[in-house]
Amino acid sequence: MIVMKFGGSSVSDAARIRAAGEIVRGRLAERPVVVVSAFRGVTDELLGLARDAQHGDLSRLAALRRRHEETADSLGVDRSLVEPLLLELADLAKGVSLLKELTPRTLDHAASFGERLSARLIAASWAKAGLPARAVDAHAAGLLTDARFGSANPLPEAEPAIKAALGGAQDLPVVTGFIGLAPGGDIATLGRNGSDYSATILGAALGASVIEIWSDTDGVMTADPRLVPEAKPLAALTFEEAGELAYYGGKVLHPHTLVPAVRKGIPVAVRNTFKPEHPGTAIAPSRPSAAAGPRSIAFKRHLSVVTVKSPDMLMGWGFLARIFAAFARHEIVVDMVTTSEVTVSFTVDDPRRVDLAARELGADFDVAVESGRAIVCVVGEGLRDTPGLAADVFSALKDAGINVLMISQGASKINLAFVVADADVPKAVSALHKRFF
Ligand code: ASP
Ligand code: MG
Repeated sequence: MIVMKFGGSSVSDAARIRAAGEIVRGRLAERPVVVVSAFRGVTDELLGLARDAQHGDLSRLAALRRRHEETADSLGVDRSLVEPLLLELADLAKGVSLLKELTPRTLDHAASFGERLSARLIAASWAKAGLPARAVDAHAAGLLTDARFGSANPLPEAEPAIKAALGGAQDLPVVTGFIGLAPGGDIATLGRNGSDYSATILGAALGASVIEIWSDTDGVMTADPRLVPEAKPLAALTFEEAGELAYYGGKVLHPHTLVPAVRKGIPVAVRNTFKPEHPGTAIAPSRPSAAAGPRSIAFKRHLSVVTVKSPDMLMGWGFLARIFAAFARHEIVVDMVTTSEVTVSFTVDDPRRVDLAARELGADFDVAVESGRAIVCVVGEGLRDTPGLAADVFSALKDAGINVLMISQGASKINLAFVVADADVPKAVSALHKRFF
């Protein structure tokens, strides 16, 4: 069997939904399980509605209702199919407006309507077109998660539950992406763009031969095309390369997406719904063109650099352990780390709790925070073993007049990463792209 996931732009309106159905029709012999996102833009609207509702503003409800009713009409599907969900959504928004309180759990519940509505409409439309489609909510598909609302992960019990729910399905299940069922019966979301992750969770549990992520690009690109118009799609990537790119916000894949696929060694293909004949990017344990060298330039913006200094660190021991333990206790996610004899610098996504960690470390440690930083990284198999690569990278940056603030290479063999001022990201990415591609 295979898993085919269609993202928001692949199901943005009736014409796109029909086109996706034809792509699926051509693959029925491979027994697809389909995963769908909400219609393009709907998740943002739902989150906006939930936030507005806290202040008594329910005005976004009407547009959300209209969007789904009109799509139903264009698909020739009965509006009554989505009525119960639209009423439930209105009730939820009303509840939030009365309580004037929005918990992460309620926010996830609100966000879940996008996929629940889209799966029903898409399955009904495909069924009308003669496909054996049926909508399946993630909870009925066995996608059991923990209760980390907003970024849930699957529980070990999910795998047997998914197998029991969908294993050997003879029809065409159209499963809601993005959501799962948390203990206690609540809906939890897997995080923004989480439908990719849903697809690999299901594919790994069901032993898919391939997991296809259908979106609106020709695959994973050599750089973000919004920054580098001449960026090109990559035919193949290794799991490791794709993992680094996803982590650095390669935009095409949700960061956790590859974990289930890697665990089971299942290839992932990134394909373009607008160009089904394009081969896209094949992500697998290894790639055919094994030549070492840069494959893609990625970046992560809006970071802060924390520098911790202590004169006592000189020839001392246990300092790093104390520093990172303090940051861990405040659940601060640390990315890149560099050390000298008396200082350690590291990047964090969110500087809000740094003060608390600093206070805990006490007067022996001097903690400074610089905001407006970004990590740029060059990813490619074998980079660490490529002579002259660092010289190429840093001379390109020098020629572009960019100051490098921190450097990290070697932790991963396939990634050379460095920190620059956030505002330098577009210049840095274009300069490197020009140098290597
Ligand atoms: N609809 C969700 C989002 O917009 C999940 C997804 O599209 O993958 O984040
Ligand atoms: Mg999406």
